[in-house]
Amino acid sequence: MSILSILTSAVTAAQILVPMPQHVQWENGSYDFAIPMRIENNCPELAQNIYLQDFTAMPDEAASRVCIIWQEEMPPEGYRLHVSPDTLLISANDKAGFIHAGQTLKLLASNGELPCCDISDAPRFEWRGCMIDVSRHYFDMDCLKRQIDIMASMKLNRLHLHLTDAAGWRLQIDRYPLLTQIAAWRTQNDWTEWWTRRDRTFVDTRKGKPAQGAYGYYYSKDQMRELIGYAAERGITIIPEIEMPGHSEEVLAVYPELACQSDTGALSQTPDGAVIRGMNSGDLCPSNEKTFEFLCGVLDEVMELFPSQYIHIGGDEANMTAWKTCQRCQDHLKQLCSDKVADLQADLISRVNVYLNEHGRKLIGWDEIIANGNAASPAKTAMVWRNADYARQAIENGYDVIMAPNSHCYLNRNQDAPTGTALDWSYLPFDQVASFDPLAALDDSQQQHIKGVQACLWTEYVVDGPSVENRLYPRLLAIAEVAWRGTTSQNIRERATSFTASLINRGVNAFDLTQEVGERPESKVTWPHKAEYAQVTYLRNYNRYYPAEGVTTLTDGLRGGWQYSDGRWQGFIGDSCVNVVIDLGKRTDIGSISMDFMQNAGPDIYLPALMVIECSNDSKHWKELYRQTSEKDLRQGLSFHTWQWNGKAKTRYLRIMATSHDDRSWIFTDEVIVK
Ligand SMILES: [Zn+2]
Repeated sequence: MSILSILTSAVTAAQILVPMPQHVQWENGSYDFAIPMRIENNCPELAQNIYLQDFTAMPDEAASRVCIIWQEEMPPEGYRLHVSPDTLLISANDKAGFIHAGQTLKLLASNGELPCCDISDAPRFEWRGCMIDVSRHYFDMDCLKRQIDIMASMKLNRLHLHLTDAAGWRLQIDRYPLLTQIAAWRTQNDWTEWWTRRDRTFVDTRKGKPAQGAYGYYYSKDQMRELIGYAAERGITIIPEIEMPGHSEEVLAVYPELACQSDTGALSQTPDGAVIRGMNSGDLCPSNEKTFEFLCGVLDEVMELFPSQYIHIGGDEANMTAWKTCQRCQDHLKQLCSDKVADLQADLISRVNVYLNEHGRKLIGWDEIIANGNAASPAKTAMVWRNADYARQAIENGYDVIMAPNSHCYLNRNQDAPTGTALDWSYLPFDQVASFDPLAALDDSQQQHIKGVQACLWTEYVVDGPSVENRLYPRLLAIAEVAWRGTTSQNIRERATSFTASLINRGVNAFDLTQEVGERPESKVTWPHKAEYAQVTYLRNYNRYYPAEGVTTLTDGLRGGWQYSDGRWQGFIGDSCVNVVIDLGKRTDIGSISMDFMQNAGPDIYLPALMVIECSNDSKHWKELYRQTSEKDLRQGLSFHTWQWNGKAKTRYLRIMATSHDDRSWIFTDEVIVK
């Protein structure tokens, strides 16, 4: 073999390694699999896994050696590989380490030869996870097994299943059969129709097959056992999530006695069960002893099924409205000597925490549980989905933290230019995920409490297996590398592209980074024009949550990207919301004025109902130049619209006024371009 081809093979192997090992030293030559191996395995049980099973043969005539060695001084999950032309050394001190060693060997050898190298490796974080929401849409066993295989290949070790939510209960619970006989089946697949347009009806399957068009399913205990075993063989623990006390519309639809006394929506079912609606508040009554009994009953079966040390109890986004008017809740608050309904949640979660601890398990919940700091028995691990402020707050309150901020980890967000028609469209490209630093904005002592990193795939608009894969890959590779190394390392984009190509070859519907369109083209260049840097006076303020660059936004020569929160788009809300005067500095000949508006019905962003542009030379006497109206467009999807005046005028001041369709409608615009 020539030097050149040796180098090429090493580079090629390096190009496909995700996550990149902590220490790699490439050496000349390669190990030849074709010649007979002599296996010396001093820890056959520990090193027994599906990725190392090629190394169990022991031919008589051996020309090369494979040594598998237990090494006590290795860090948890660490491993070492030493590859020379006639010897392959694999060492680790635990089962996970040998699995990772096997995975790295598999990647290294994916070109048919194993390049000589010395690798020593161990993860930065112990929790390296991916959450898949199987409630909003159900994904079958084959789909989940496929994702487990791919996750394992990138050394992720936790699959968190969001098993229960308003959209459907997805786990067999023997003591509460209605959860899967009714609450696992909804009248239609389409999320917008069923949820946003408030159908929210479940189908009773007790009398036979679900009605035509009914959508749902659940995992039987046998299936879940099979999945847990499948994942365990690949080094992955399945973390079950049972939501409480919010996001529980489906539970209240079938067990309305768990609702607050004031939650009238929980009673909207007919006695014969023909129509069962989830129009309730979504919150279990935290003051009803039956609620605690129900939760313990469910958790008993969950703990019997799942060996995971951690049980996720959700805990997010309870709206708490019914609690304010429920007599039982009010009485309970008096006992707690509190007037804050949030303390009812703290009390419930504290009790559930004790219950799980008594059974040798640990509670984990979304970052809302931090607010339970005053609870009698606060939990100890929070999954932060908002931002680093919540991580700091959690750590100050004694929690360990898993970082899953939506700014970098919510892989349900679109990764490229808008093409689909999802109602709620938002943008999270690969490069932004790859820039994730889970320890940013935390000091050294706080960083000790960050136990891991997790990607989240919410599935309101992710309807099937191919869509799951298209959202997860390749962005999950970037998360996996951050979880393994702390941050992504060199060439992550190139390595992810190679890795993705191998996934696509295997039939995985991964997004092809080489086809990425990227950010909105208009946002990538500057736009010089006659009003650039002109002073803008706001007669009415932009919204304080979407200020963009403040008063310079509309004349800074910069246009917005795909995402309304990107700091380029300025948001206005309410009636008569846009009202600005632009001073061009002196009387100026103008021939056109144009503005872009965003249309995105999911987050209530619409074109203006009416826009008027006037001009003036003294800012007192105004002359109308332009008037445009629009109908409120409720169709799904993200789009951009340019409203433009063309003509001839000589003016110093321009006044732009726009009204929105109603108090809840937003207007987003990025620049007033005057030519
Ligand atoms: Zn109540």
